[in-house]
Amino acid sequence: MSIKQIPHYDVAIVGAGPAGALAAYEVAKAGLRCVILEKECLPRYKVCGGGLIYKARKALDIDICAAIERELSVTEIALFGSTKTYRTPPQEKPMVTMVMRDQFDQLLIKAACEQGASLIEGFELKVLQTHSDGVDLTDASGRHVSAKMVVGADGANSAVARLGAWSHFEAVAPALECELTVSDADMARFSGTARFDLDIPKDGYSWVFPKGQHLSIGVGRFFNKERINLHQTLDTYLAHLGLQAYADKAVHGFVIPLHPRKEGAILGRLFLVGDAAGFADPVLGEGLSSAILSGIAVGKAIAASGVDLARAQSNYQKYIDDEVLADLATARKLAGFCYLSPTMRNWLMAQSSERLIKAMTRIIMGESQYQDYQMRFMNKLKFWQ
Ligand SMILES: Cc1cc2nc3c(=O)[nH]c(=O)nc-3n(C[C@H](O)[C@H](O)[C@H](O)COP(=O)(O)OP(=O)(O)OC[C@H]3O[C@@H](n4cnc5c(N)ncnc54)[C@H](O)[C@@H]3O)c2cc1C
Repeated sequence: MSIKQIPHYDVAIVGAGPAGALAAYEVAKAGLRCVILEKECLPRYKVCGGGLIYKARKALDIDICAAIERELSVTEIALFGSTKTYRTPPQEKPMVTMVMRDQFDQLLIKAACEQGASLIEGFELKVLQTHSDGVDLTDASGRHVSAKMVVGADGANSAVARLGAWSHFEAVAPALECELTVSDADMARFSGTARFDLDIPKDGYSWVFPKGQHLSIGVGRFFNKERINLHQTLDTYLAHLGLQAYADKAVHGFVIPLHPRKEGAILGRLFLVGDAAGFADPVLGEGLSSAILSGIAVGKAIAASGVDLARAQSNYQKYIDDEVLADLATARKLAGFCYLSPTMRNWLMAQSSERLIKAMTRIIMGESQYQDYQMRFMNKLKFWQ
């Protein structure tokens, strides 16, 4: 194919997860020529608990009803080795909406395509060349696309970041999950809440997320201080829950980046969003809200720029500075406290459980940010020390 035949777009978005879908939705809605390049064919299985917190759900102006498996108004936190559990007060709006990512992601992409975005499936980005007025992207089979700007929404192992010369993440959290069909009695036992068990493993948590007809159960660790076998941890957790050892369970693993990239999220014509940028919440390990919110932000930043590179960069950087970095810095401190100092954390929870649960509820509902509690948290910490 000669250079002239290369399809040219205003924006190419690599990755059809929520970050890519929302970026495409915003860009296409503004009438820009936009293409989504996805290595898989949709719908595809995605390793994820599929717990969409209300902070993310309320940011969507797309009807996701067709992808909802269950809506939960309560979450429950259990402490391993203790009979103590904490429940959030019931919310009028769904605190956590349970989805299966294959259906959810496909629905978001469909909405972006209805706004005018194009989708090329089976396009695995392999080569990326930036030149004075755009970027050429080539896939494993030699197909080319070019665009004035590129959004890297291709997740934790982002090819856009790698090819665009970003360095590796400082920290990623390994996590495993399985989808389990259980007895009606067990389904009834776990179907009322999103359940989190702190300290299984020691530096992380495990979860049970009830879907329509089955349970998504997983384990994740946020500080890899020592080597452990996460598969064994998952088995220990299933036993702890009183679920039989499902020898034939399909277990899937992936990583969640818990630290923004040190070079930032913008390099020239390349913009990173969601997991590719390292924007996931280091306390909850949830990345759907940052994927959705940063996808919307980059889409709006480019749309408002009139495809002017300097303006698009400055618009998106403003969002990152105002909404992302300071809050993530506070959240990282809290995560360190939560997962590396369990004795101190349990003491604080015993002292101030009502206030802490209320604060966490407000964060999940998108009514507050971590940094709103920074001063109070630091003062408590000083008092304890
Ligand atoms: C076990 C586990 C459980 C989790 N549970 C939750 C949860 O319950 N709630 C929550 O909020 N978060 C959860 N997360 C985190 C969440 O899954 C991610 O934060 C979220 O998927 C990030 O969205 P994204 O759009 O940035 O990237 P992704 O969803 O990872 O999408 C990236 C897309 O890019 C495509 N791609 C990758 N490489 C290329 C390439 N070279 N060329 C073209 N396309 C490419 C991929 O196929 C994929 O479709 C979990 C993570 C793990 C590992």
